[in-house]
Amino acid sequence: MKRIRPAERHWYHYLWLYSLFFFAAGFFNILFAWLGLVSFLLPLVFAFGFGTKGFCNRYCDRGQFLRMFGGQLGFSRGHEMPAWMKGKPFRYAFMVFFFAMFGNIIYTTWLIAHGAGSLSEVITILWSVQVPWQWAYAGGTEPWVASFAFQLYSFMLTSEIIAIATMLWFRPRSWCVYCPMGTLTQLVCKQKSSSKRDVLKGALEK
Ligand code: SF4
Repeated sequence: MKRIRPAERHWYHYLWLYSLFFFAAGFFNILFAWLGLVSFLLPLVFAFGFGTKGFCNRYCDRGQFLRMFGGQLGFSRGHEMPAWMKGKPFRYAFMVFFFAMFGNIIYTTWLIAHGAGSLSEVITILWSVQVPWQWAYAGGTEPWVASFAFQLYSFMLTSEIIAIATMLWFRPRSWCVYCPMGTLTQLVCKQKSSSKRDVLKGALEK
C-alpha cells in the first residue's frame, strides 16, 4: 500500500481518530455506542444518494484506521488473501450473517422495550465471550436504550477485532474485501449504475 506523505494528507486521513474515540468513549459510557449507527447509515447515504463508494474510498474511519496502522505504520504482514475470502460466496454469506446478527440486536432491543427481556450489562466479543462492563452504565435511561448500546458496542468491537486481525496478517485493508457494509454498498452502486445504463440505452433507442 502506498504511504501517504505529510504534504499529501487531507483531513479525512485523520478519521481513524474517530475509531479510537468511539471505542474509548464506549469504554467509559456505553451510551456513546449509539454513535455506531453513523457507521451504518453514512455508507448507505453515499451509495443510495450518490451511487458511489465515496464513503469507503475516503470517509470511513475504519478504512482509514486500517490504512494508518497497517500501511502507514507498517503493522501489516502483507500476505495475500486466499481466493475464497475474496470470492462472492464467502463475501455474501458473511454479509447475510452480519446483518442477521444486527437484526437480532434490533429484535432483542424490541423485546426488552416490551418487557420481555432484561438488560444485561456485558459486552459480548466474537458473539460468544461475555465480558462484564457494568461500570460504563450509570442508569438514567430506559433499559432498551442501554441494551441496544451494549449490543451495538459488542457488535462494533467484534467486527473491529476481525478487521484488525485481518489487517495484521494480510494486506492493510483486506477487511474491506469482505466487509459487509462494503459488500452491500457495492451491490447498491452496481444496481444504480446498471439502472442508469438502462435509462441511457432507452433514451438512445427512442
Ligand atoms: S469496506 Fe467497510 S471498513 Fe472498508 S472502507 Fe468500506 S465501510 Fe469502511
